[in-house]
Amino acid sequence: MKTIVVKVGSNILTTEYGINDKRIGSIAKAVSTIHEMGYSVAVVSSGAVVAGKRKLHLDNKNLDIKLKQASAAVGQSSLIRFYERRFAQYGKMVAQILITQDAFDDRRRYINAKNTIQTLFSFGIIPVINENDTVAVDEIKFGDNDRLASLVAGMLGAERLFILSDVEGLFDKDPKRSKQACLIEKVDEISDELMKVVGNSTSSGGTGGMYSKMLAAKHASENGITVNILGGKRPANMVSILEGKNHGTLINAKIKRLSSRKGWIAHGIKAKGSLSLDAGAIDALMEKGKSLLPSGIVSVTGTFDIGDAVNCEDNKGNKVAKGLTNYSSSEINRIKGKKTSEIEKELGYRYSDEVIHRDNLVKL
Ligand code: GLU
Repeated sequence: MKTIVVKVGSNILTTEYGINDKRIGSIAKAVSTIHEMGYSVAVVSSGAVVAGKRKLHLDNKNLDIKLKQASAAVGQSSLIRFYERRFAQYGKMVAQILITQDAFDDRRRYINAKNTIQTLFSFGIIPVINENDTVAVDEIKFGDNDRLASLVAGMLGAERLFILSDVEGLFDKDPKRSKQACLIEKVDEISDELMKVVGNSTSSGGTGGMYSKMLAAKHASENGITVNILGGKRPANMVSILEGKNHGTLINAKIKRLSSRKGWIAHGIKAKGSLSLDAGAIDALMEKGKSLLPSGIVSVTGTFDIGDAVNCEDNKGNKVAKGLTNYSSSEINRIKGKKTSEIEKELGYRYSDEVIHRDNLVKL
């Protein structure tokens, strides 16, 4: 079955009094319609922290991390209750999934999470996913739910990601600051220049602004997923988009979808370090589809172990590929620039000829 991921931001889920029940109702209606059209749908929902703050009357305070985590715990249960009740009106069941970045770093946990969600799909259930804010500290935090949504879409091999936002899409200027701002209906390539333009737009309430939405859209489109950023006040527009109409901003998938494993390497697991490569190695990787051998490695940055993800860079520091390493950073420091026949002499053992095997390598 085809899969769609819907990301809902804090601002459209909450009012100054708490959770926006009516809005959750209209989201539930649209998502249920999409489900009836034959899609599996996962909702990535923010709103726990804001809803909890309202319940605890902590509204105007600048919350430290403990208070934010406590608010999330208080808010999350209410949030799910609203989703449960509203989806039930359309005969749909929901399931709560709370997840942290480390579930994406570890292949076993990643596959576990994916299997659970797919089992829920097989029951016709709509998973409602959020970051596990209560336990998330910096190293295992997504940062914002836009990133979480693009990772979930990659994990599930989704064909489309809808990002419901408090603005109607991407504008050529910040619409909150300029009346002349025009909606950009279609983006073919999320270039560095475009990222600079959106760099200083913000949203209150949640942690993501347009920048984090575009970054998520960039990851998703590079993973073969079509993205629509649209105004969350009219969730029915998602249905209309699937029927062929235009709303908000469309970001077309840049490539054919990556296999789930390559998608995980490219966008799931975090890179722990990087390898700077010479021109010959770059050519072998990028043009000839070969594996990375020690001889092409010029320098190593970061500390990592066997199995960790590392970026491969050219001599100007541009990221060209990412892969899972067969050797640790200290081992690569000893074998870099050397022939494969010298690995054993240098390390006392040889795990493989390749530092990164091409099956574990993704061009970026
Ligand atoms: N996980 C947070 C929450 O539910 C939101 C993170 C974000 O705004 O992206 O409140």
